[in-house]
Parts: sequence; structure tokens; C-alpha cells
Amino acid sequence: MTVRRGTNLDRVGGFNDAVVLDAIRRSEQLSRVELAEVTGLSGQAISNIARRLLDAGLVREAGRQRSAGLGKPRTLLELEPTGQYAVGVHLDPAVVTVVLLDLTGDVVARRRVDTPYADDPDVLIAGIAATIEDVMTLAAAPRDRVVGVGIAAPGPIDAERGFVVDPPNLAAWHLVPIRDELHERTGLPVLLDKDVTAAASAEKWAGGGGSFVFFYLGTGVGAGLVIGDEVVRGSSSNVGEIGHVIVDPDGPVCYCGRRGCVGEASQPRYLVQQAVRAGVLASGIDLDDRKAVDAAFARLCSLAAADPGPAREIVAALAVRIAKVVEDIANLLDLERVVFGGPHWERLAPLFGDAVRAALDGRFLVRSVHPFEVAGTALGVDVGAIGAASLVLDQTFSPNPSVLLQSRELVADR
Ligand SMILES: [Zn+2]
Repeated sequence: MTVRRGTNLDRVGGFNDAVVLDAIRRSEQLSRVELAEVTGLSGQAISNIARRLLDAGLVREAGRQRSAGLGKPRTLLELEPTGQYAVGVHLDPAVVTVVLLDLTGDVVARRRVDTPYADDPDVLIAGIAATIEDVMTLAAAPRDRVVGVGIAAPGPIDAERGFVVDPPNLAAWHLVPIRDELHERTGLPVLLDKDVTAAASAEKWAGGGGSFVFFYLGTGVGAGLVIGDEVVRGSSSNVGEIGHVIVDPDGPVCYCGRRGCVGEASQPRYLVQQAVRAGVLASGIDLDDRKAVDAAFARLCSLAAADPGPAREIVAALAVRIAKVVEDIANLLDLERVVFGGPHWERLAPLFGDAVRAALDGRFLVRSVHPFEVAGTALGVDVGAIGAASLVLDQTFSPNPSVLLQSRELVADR
């Protein structure tokens, strides 16, 4: 009985510390009295926790607040940005993005490197490990303050074993144990999650709670889900594999063998091909040359944004295909909004939001009951990497027991 009670108290201590830290994070600055009010903890408990957090360098005193009435001015507490850091890695078939976040979630260093056309995953993993060292050096972050590395990878993933299973366009990446390999090379705890789940987490961190789908437009197409302020992962952390939803029976042949999957029909390669056929772009573009396709895609997007005409029709048709998928997800899960992001979104953004809105206008939506919002991420192309790091920071702030259980995903046997 005594032992059990002691253990419980210990756990509750950690739980309450996280509750207090999270309350400070959400309000930016709070006094001890306000903390007791918002957390429901006693003044004595708050005082002990605040002392512990100050000693650990996770919070700092931030001046005084004049209290109403005759009481003493109250000292405000805020997060100490340098108290903890987390690394986020976004592994995309075209580009690897590595960011370092401080405790407040601000990006303090970032690096983007082209993904080498590596047949050998070792080359890529060594490159990522070196880039992680770079960002820590760049920000002058003490190593013992870096709590871990989050990797956002294209699905499907094997979350249990920390493997990427078979990412599109990375032919050599079959069952690569990236989590443990990176842990070995960096000595830091590492967690692996899906790119879309990381992006959804970043969006949630940036203040966008509620219930929404993060629609990722990149080399793969996927959906991250936040429902009722909680990131949803599904039974194997592979939520949101929507790339093979068929939206155009006459569309391009997908690598899955079927025709018109939304993932394939949203690729720049296909859109560029359509644009050449429509006479919008000159023929002779090598569709197997990623950089040439990217340049042609950029040209198509700027033509579409500039004037009505065949270029805009191609983009509008894409918006219709994607709106169909958004409609189904939103209705199935009773969502409030869709947030678009990913590298291809950056190009499409100037007119795509309106086009999707227009396409959704004619459809049945739960918004007959409540509004449904179409938005683009404010976090830019780094959203996946920021999200991966935010998943690591989440463990510091989250009093949620399901997150504590998940720490088995954090390889921390250093
Ligand atoms: Zn397919």
C-alpha cells in the first residue's frame, strides 16, 4: 500500500508539472495565484512546482504584475525558451528539412538539403545526422538541453519498430529502421511519426485546435487529423492514407495499378503533362527530371494565377478532385475546417483556396449545420519538420497519459 501510494504520488508530481507548464505555455505569462486558479492546484503545490521548474531552468520570472486591491505585486512566470530544445526532421523524397525548436516552439535554426538520390539509406541517414549536428551548433544549443528528435516520414510507417516501410519515390527505402539508426548516430532519443500527423500536430501547436483535417500536398498526398484538440493516429499510427482514393476514372495510372488515384492525379508531373497537351506549356519537358517538372509546374501555377484560361482550368479541375476527398472526410468526421500545406501547396496557394471553396460550394457539407473553413497553413514549407519537433515537445507539456504510454516510441537508452 505504501509503495503503491508513493509511486502514484511520484507520477502525479510529473503530471502536475506538465499541467502547470502547459498552462504557462498557453497564457504566455501567469502568476502563481493565477496558476492555482486555472489548474485547481493548491497554492502550496503551485509554489513547490514553480520552484522545481525554476530550478530546472524550464520557466523564468518575468517581472511583476500589480494586483488589484492592496495585495503585493505578483511575480509572473513564463517559459524559459532555452530551457529545452527539440529537433524536427521532415523526410521528403525531394528534400530533407531539419529544424530546431526552443521550448516556446519557435524555430531557432533550420537547414534544408536536397534528398540525395541515394540507393543506400545509410548515406541519407548519415546526412540527416550531420544536419542535426549543424542546427544544434547553429543555435548554440547545449546538447543536454536537446530532449529529442522527431522524424516525420511519408507513410506507411511501422511505429512499433521505428521503420519507414515503403515511402513513394524512395525505392531503396524498404523497411529502413530509421529511428534506431538515428538514435545510434546522434545519441538522442528519437521518435518516428507520419508526416501528415506531424503537420497536424504543428498546426494544433500553432493555436489551431478543434477538429480539422490537414491536407498535405507533396510527393505524396495524405491527411492528418485532429479531432477535439487531439491528434488522431489510428490503430497503427498510419491514419490518413488517402492517396489511393479514386477521383478521376480517366486519370493517370497510379503505381498501385489503378487509374485516377488522388495522389497520382495531384502530382505536378501529371498537371504538367495536361498543360503540355492543352498547349499551355511548350512540349519537350522531360517528365522524369524532377527539377524540370518542378520548374514547369511553377510556370503553370503562375499562369493559372495570372489569367483565366486553360492553365487555370487545369488547376481548378485539381481543386474539384481534391474537394471531393475533403468533402468525404469532413462529412464522415464532422470537421470544422481543412488546412492545406506541403511543398506543392506553396505553389498552388494563390488561387487554390478559392478554387476548393468554390468546388465545395455545390456539395453537401456538414456546414449546413456549422461553418466549414478552407485555410492554408501559416507555417509554410517547414510545417512537417516543425510538427516532428512539436511531437517531442508535446511530451514535456502533455499531462495526457496516452502520451506517456507512447514514450516507448522514444528510444532513450543512452
Ligand atoms: Zn493508387
